[in-house]
Amino acid sequence: MTTIHAIRSKRVVTPEGVRAATVRIRNGSIEAITGYNDLPSGKHTYDAGESVVMPGLVDTHVHINEPGRTDWEGFETATRAAAAGGVTTLIDMPLNSIPTTTTAAALETKRQAARKKCWVNVGFWGGVLPGNPGELSALHRAGAFGFKCFLVPSGVPEFAHVNEDDLRAALPTLAALDVPMLVHAELPGPIEEANKKLTKSDPTRYRAWLLSRPASAETAAVELMIRLAREFKARVHIVHLSSELSVPLIRRAKQEGVRITAETCPHYLFFASGSIRNGWTAYKCAPPIRDSQNNKKLWTALEKGAIDFVVSDHSPSPPAMKCLATGSFFEAWGGISSLQLGLPVMWTKMHERNFSLKHLLRWMCSGPARLAGLEKCKGAIATGYDADIVVWNPEKRFIVRPKMLQHRHKLTPYVNHALRGTVEATFLRGEMIYDRGRFLGAPQGALLRRGER
Ligand SMILES: [Zn+2]
Repeated sequence: MTTIHAIRSKRVVTPEGVRAATVRIRNGSIEAITGYNDLPSGKHTYDAGESVVMPGLVDTHVHINEPGRTDWEGFETATRAAAAGGVTTLIDMPLNSIPTTTTAAALETKRQAARKKCWVNVGFWGGVLPGNPGELSALHRAGAFGFKCFLVPSGVPEFAHVNEDDLRAALPTLAALDVPMLVHAELPGPIEEANKKLTKSDPTRYRAWLLSRPASAETAAVELMIRLAREFKARVHIVHLSSELSVPLIRRAKQEGVRITAETCPHYLFFASGSIRNGWTAYKCAPPIRDSQNNKKLWTALEKGAIDFVVSDHSPSPPAMKCLATGSFFEAWGGISSLQLGLPVMWTKMHERNFSLKHLLRWMCSGPARLAGLEKCKGAIATGYDADIVVWNPEKRFIVRPKMLQHRHKLTPYVNHALRGTVEATFLRGEMIYDRGRFLGAPQGALLRRGER
């Protein structure tokens, strides 16, 4: 582990723009951004040359699954992948671990399980289940960053989905605490209707999976959440928005002052249904990856701000659960593994579409930091911010190979894809933790609590 006192580069991404500069670091924080040649004397300096110096990514949608399903993914492997991918802060979802993070005691169990294993900073979302509104204030006091719920079955039996009545019981508490309700926005009704027509279809056909999760399930859920956000003056955040048909609803609600935000994920922006071969269940997620027209419109929504930012929804499982042998999209685990690859996946497509580092900063650093209430200490290279920094080469290309992935399991739909952008070094509070494939020192990521520095 090397403590660094300054990082300089021809391309430092600051809130004001990209420029040649030196980032001075003291006691883990950014002390100042000075001129390129204004180096501290005799102190450890990292010269990034032409490579980009940017705040570490903030990924607010990660399923780590430990304890309970550590064979799916765990704190050690997930946070190594994060460090290698330039993610310096992640917020873990309340499900797939056992216990689910739905009581203050369960949050403590998770924190215990995470101790001394995290290479990057880790915070936790709590969960809203039918019947747990009494737990929410205690979970918030214990440091949960906000709450997540499902409106359809979640895929695991311990995390039941909620209906409108359950939401009505939980939202007054969340509004009073002023924390966001993160929602998996699909309603069961349109999905059940769609599935009635698909009983004879071949489960290995991607098209069958796509038809089984119609966009109407998402738009109906988004409509419901807008209505409730308005009524309760609550903060609502739509996770993994998949359909462009939901975008006008969100745009209008925002214009009316409803407190709603939305994220989408790299896979909805990188892939389109037309190129997913039948039986390729590594691509299965819910809601599903839709067609190329939809993909194009999601990019526009992101550019215009109707969609606020992009996070991974890294949700791996053991490869056997992806049912590659049968190729059944209906039996396979729904979740895409991608934590280490978010930056190059996004940058590859952003480069094709002429988006800039300024957009990347908003979509993968400052935007998600704001959702988690971390906007005053993470997601910017500015005086007083934590010196959580990624250095990466935006010109260098590589092909994704399983052996370069730090995820517990190497199965991902990005394998063999050519991507643009390689992470060279990652810094946490001014300490270099990752250097071109090598991990330095021991895991020293902080376990974050909401509102704490
Ligand atoms: Zn998720």
